[in-house]
Amino acid sequence: MTESWGIRAWLADLEEQGMYRRRRVVESPQSREIVVDGRRLLNFCSNDYLGLAGDPRVAEAFAAGARRWGTGSGASHLICGHTAAHHELEDALADFTGRPRALLFSTGYSANMGAINGLLTEGDAVFEDRLNHASLLDGGWISRANFHWFEHRDLEDLDRQLGENADARRKLVVSDGIFSMDGDACRLPETVAVARRHGAALMIDDAHGIGVQGREGRGLVDPDRFDVEAVPVLIGTLGKAIGTFGAFVAGSEDLVELLIQKARSYVFTTALPSAVAVASLASLEIVRREEWRREKLADLVARFRAGADSLGLELLPSSSPIQPVIVGDPGRAVAFSQALEDRGCLISAIRPPTVAEGTSRLRITLTAGHDEADIDRLIEALGSARGTV
Ligand SMILES: *Cc1c(COP(=O)(O)O)cnc(C)c1O
Repeated sequence: MTESWGIRAWLADLEEQGMYRRRRVVESPQSREIVVDGRRLLNFCSNDYLGLAGDPRVAEAFAAGARRWGTGSGASHLICGHTAAHHELEDALADFTGRPRALLFSTGYSANMGAINGLLTEGDAVFEDRLNHASLLDGGWISRANFHWFEHRDLEDLDRQLGENADARRKLVVSDGIFSMDGDACRLPETVAVARRHGAALMIDDAHGIGVQGREGRGLVDPDRFDVEAVPVLIGTLGKAIGTFGAFVAGSEDLVELLIQKARSYVFTTALPSAVAVASLASLEIVRREEWRREKLADLVARFRAGADSLGLELLPSSSPIQPVIVGDPGRAVAFSQALEDRGCLISAIRPPTVAEGTSRLRITLTAGHDEADIDRLIEALGSARGTV
């Protein structure tokens, strides 16, 4: 197959375009510093925004969960894999997001695929922000609904497209809450209003907002301002700020019951290990209680932006812990990332197809695990690495 399909030439082509992707082997837990391929580096590419992925309390809950429940869940939720631990976490997530119900999925990718594909089919229409996460796009495409892009955060464009497709049976507007590669936020109040005006439902994927934004880290979709009517389909993930693994859809009783019937990536997959649910529950309590993590993170973001600005680096309008530095050319982004690594900082270069052509970037992420000296070292490294690429 390798020969007849020309796979080697295909790979060589990717290499030549600066698009070849390589995995790194990490030899330590997630933390402000990690050991990669034998070297200790400051870690600026993790989504562990609150510094909980390596927290001993969460790890202890995980271990206790494994002792109580074993390792595997044995089957899908609908067969015999849905445990009291999953159920308790769903109740806690519903309470956290201010929704009547929440439904656990094994990953954010499968939650998005399952929710969109479960809700829409031929004759329906989905409207997606151009910078939405791949899992939202894949869910839209696989559903066979008519697929419409709208320009990033451009609600006039969304409004026009909803108007042009008024005859679609069901209309679903889908957006990231905080955009994963740009770090900016969707214009939530305006998006809610436009969707409502056209009788469309709104789905927000708050993978990067949950834990980080809002009171007690409830996310971008503040339940006091945006109830289940305003944002009927809310997605959160557990593998980022919550520091564990998995994801959930939060919404009405009926939505959750429908997804239990119809979301193929829910029905046909093994339930998360219960120990993950136990650990997530422990982490969620820490997330809600330890406000200092969000405050520290906001201070570090401000410190980084001031430093990067003084270097004259091109930043994006992001107040989230996702702080990309736009480089443009993919090869140059890789070289920049390498030069930063030589200076002790691990930062990944993000290239097409993850981001648009010509917008290759360093995706810098900050966490509450960092301290001010780490940010200063990063700024220094950026300043000196920039001259070499
Ligand atoms: C990471 C991410 C996902 C996928 O979540 P996983 O649990 O990692 O599969 C979905 N949506 C967005 C916006 C993300 O950033």
